[in-house]
Amino acid sequence: MKIYNTLTRRKEEFVPINPGKVGIYVCGPTVYDFIHIGNARPQIIFDTLRRYLEYKGYEVNYVSNFTDVDDKIIKRSIEENIDASAISERFIVECKKDMEDLNVRPANVHPQATKEIPDMIELVKVLIEKGHAYEKNGTVYFRTRSFPEYGKLSHKNIDDLESGHRAEAHQLKVSGEDEKEDPLDFVLWKPKKEGEPFWKSPWSEGRPGWHLECSCMAKKYIGGTIDIHAGGEDLIFPHHENEIAQSEAANGTTFANYWMHNGFLKINGDKMSKSLGNFFTVRDICSKYDPQVFRFFMLTAQYRTPLNFSEELVLDAAKGLERIVNGAEKLKGIVEKDNKKPMTDEENRIISEELPKYVEKFEAAMDDDLNTADAISTIFELIRFTNASTDTESSSDFAKALYDTLFTLADTVLGVHIERKAGEMASDDVAEIEALIAERTAAKKAKDFAAADAIRAKLLDMGIIIEDTREGVKWKKA
Ligand code: AMP
Ligand code: ZN
Repeated sequence: MKIYNTLTRRKEEFVPINPGKVGIYVCGPTVYDFIHIGNARPQIIFDTLRRYLEYKGYEVNYVSNFTDVDDKIIKRSIEENIDASAISERFIVECKKDMEDLNVRPANVHPQATKEIPDMIELVKVLIEKGHAYEKNGTVYFRTRSFPEYGKLSHKNIDDLESGHRAEAHQLKVSGEDEKEDPLDFVLWKPKKEGEPFWKSPWSEGRPGWHLECSCMAKKYIGGTIDIHAGGEDLIFPHHENEIAQSEAANGTTFANYWMHNGFLKINGDKMSKSLGNFFTVRDICSKYDPQVFRFFMLTAQYRTPLNFSEELVLDAAKGLERIVNGAEKLKGIVEKDNKKPMTDEENRIISEELPKYVEKFEAAMDDDLNTADAISTIFELIRFTNASTDTESSSDFAKALYDTLFTLADTVLGVHIERKAGEMASDDVAEIEALIAERTAAKKAKDFAAADAIRAKLLDMGIIIEDTREGVKWKKA
């Protein structure tokens, strides 16, 4: 499999550190509110990466944190006059509910910053001992220039950064700039302000900097070098750049071999974000659309391209998914007939010669830096193929072989449920029912009661009961 590595700006063949095993760390959300659909993009994408690597036979250790101590959490806890931990615990529960709806599997470990403080303090101590960090008035800073490779991930030049910082500090009078040795230095530990949550440390009662938590947890739950580190592209700088500096300066080993970053989910061409106010929560969207449609929509674009969110595109995705679900339903119908027919020579040939071509094409797309857009096109081709090569006379074993392949690619790997939920109707069936009801209404208007009754009987045969009410005709399943 090839992965585009932000570090080298190239697609590279993926080679794990330990054969057959992959360690993935994905930066998770800051839990101060319901997550928005932009936050769901990395969750869905990297869950799909995990599923695909498992499909290829790897044992995946998937770690994704919750940032549960942060200015925004503290702000909300003050507004609601409760503990910061009550806010973060509440939204961790809500986030996990959203992930379940979107069929994002729980990580092997979901570490939380507040539960890892002693390890973070140890990491800061190591950085101070090695000369990479220093304390001033209770704050500990990372000495950025002590790490010569600073800027290698974001491809920024340290001197350009420095002049940018100086200008910014000059204009904004950034607090703490005066006590730093260098404007580029960033915070590892900061003292509490009145009313803020804090932990004891050798430097002050305070809390760790945001970047520190990921450096610490990635090492603890995966190892000194991890295979893949992932997150949204906004995290490249400074978050991931700083994680590299801290981890590599402390451990003396490469922090992560492959860096994957998803592009942004946009709305009307603008970045979707809380601060711009142009966002929808996952909860809103899942109450309006089937969460599976939303997951499918997210996968219709390759993860590095920006993806525009619009009602029209989600409805297109709904139609696409419906085609797949209908195709799967047709196959399942034949399987369930259990006709015990042996497979014909032609059916055998299709299973051994034709079907593998679709699987290969799907894998080629996924192997090309997780190109889910092309993988989905292949699934559509497979549906056209299964529709054309089966009918009511096909053997159940043949239909089952086709169904199993479709299920593996779409449901197991892409994580999109292809089985209709019990009681849910195909949209084509709904359209047919509604057309018949309209026909009956027209017949009644024309006083052709025999025709109207015949339509009512036909609907009843289809298992549909209709009722004439003052608001119009209502229908339900018998
Ligand atoms: P945050 O809670 O802001 O730290 O974000 C959690 C994750 O969501 C990070 O990996 C971000 O890069 C990602 N993210 C935030 N907004 C978007 C967006 N509009 N599109 C895609 N990813 C996003
Ligand atoms: Zn992180």
